[in-house]
Amino acid sequence: MSKSDNPAPAGAQTQPGLSRVKNIIAVASGKGGVGKSTVSVNLAVALKRTGATVGLMDADIYGPSQPGMLGSRDARPDISSGHLKPINKYGIDFISMGLLVSDETPVIWRAPIAMKMIQQFIGSVTWGELDYLFIDLPPGTGDVKLTLAQQASLTGAIIVTTPQQVALGVAHKGLRMFQQVNVPIVGIIENMSGFTCEHCGKETAIFKEGGGKQMAEQLRVPYLGAIPLDTSIMNSGEEGVPVLNNGTDTTAAKAFISVAEAVRKNAESIMRVIAQTEPKKIQLSNEGNLMITWPDGHESVYTPHTLRISCPCASCIDEDTGKKTLDVDRVPLDIQITGYNPVGRYGVAIAFSDGHNTGIYIFDRLRGLCECDKCSKDKKQDSFTI
Ligand code: ADP
Repeated sequence: MSKSDNPAPAGAQTQPGLSRVKNIIAVASGKGGVGKSTVSVNLAVALKRTGATVGLMDADIYGPSQPGMLGSRDARPDISSGHLKPINKYGIDFISMGLLVSDETPVIWRAPIAMKMIQQFIGSVTWGELDYLFIDLPPGTGDVKLTLAQQASLTGAIIVTTPQQVALGVAHKGLRMFQQVNVPIVGIIENMSGFTCEHCGKETAIFKEGGGKQMAEQLRVPYLGAIPLDTSIMNSGEEGVPVLNNGTDTTAAKAFISVAEAVRKNAESIMRVIAQTEPKKIQLSNEGNLMITWPDGHESVYTPHTLRISCPCASCIDEDTGKKTLDVDRVPLDIQITGYNPVGRYGVAIAFSDGHNTGIYIFDRLRGLCECDKCSKDKKQDSFTI
């Protein structure tokens, strides 16, 4: 993290190839095989049908399966002057690690360089104008999620899970990882939820049903809906034709349409919050204070000392009690800000001259820290009202 001489607006995409993408949504799962890629592909196609322009990035370098699911195994993306151009299939702009690495590439050497590959991959694709870009992440891998949250300004993340308890436990861990880096959760999708008989249409709960919904309720995150365990979904993946391209009147197609509508609704409400809280500009003043221009034009100036003693990280605040554990008296009055970096679209990470750099300051809380006359007066009035 270093001081930026010419700071970009907070939340601006740090990757130029993503600059024309309105919403970037990571699709993640705690473990492999829960149908994350299947859901990503069909969700993208279902969202496209609502009139949105949609892109899909298969960043699952351990098992890039989307070229097969989109019937594009042999496609090769156009590469010119180091930039990758997505291919278009079924109306979706699409790129996959699977189009770049051969099937023979041993997984063993892929693992240690996963992060670097994903970073390069994200940075090298030039996307056009898109309403939504889904990034299908490798399962598990916390580091990748962290990198992504910092590399791309995510609107949020979708967690795909199956109803089984084991999978749910792991999905929970994956979800927490996003929350720790302040990426909003667009919602949870329960895949393989109940088996629909292709002959009589009867539904049977093969695995325990409703776990995804329960998990969403417990963790107070949105539930986006369920996708049935359905042979037509599996076949469509194998044939390389998305479910909706075989008709929209099937149980499976209706499920994807309903989930896509929920995704759109939730992403829109997240974007509304972002529009209200994301600063227009963040910069350091000549005196070394952090200056923020908020969406309503208000300007806040924070001294390094105020920010350091308000650090919200786990080593300065007890996570359970919310009480400050930092010894404020030991923070030097002349402490300096040595660097800052927007994190996603929700906050800014700040590094200080005492070497502390683990605090991510969420924008709406940062706004509450403003000590200008007007904000101090408003705060006083609020406390009287209470
Ligand atoms: P992941 O990306 O989580 O590893 P995949 O999307 O590759 O999982 O799916 C794993 C397997 O499960 C594939 O064979 C896929 O066709 C199948 N599958 C996924 N979702 C469903 C579903 N809802 N119904 C039937 N088969 C499914």
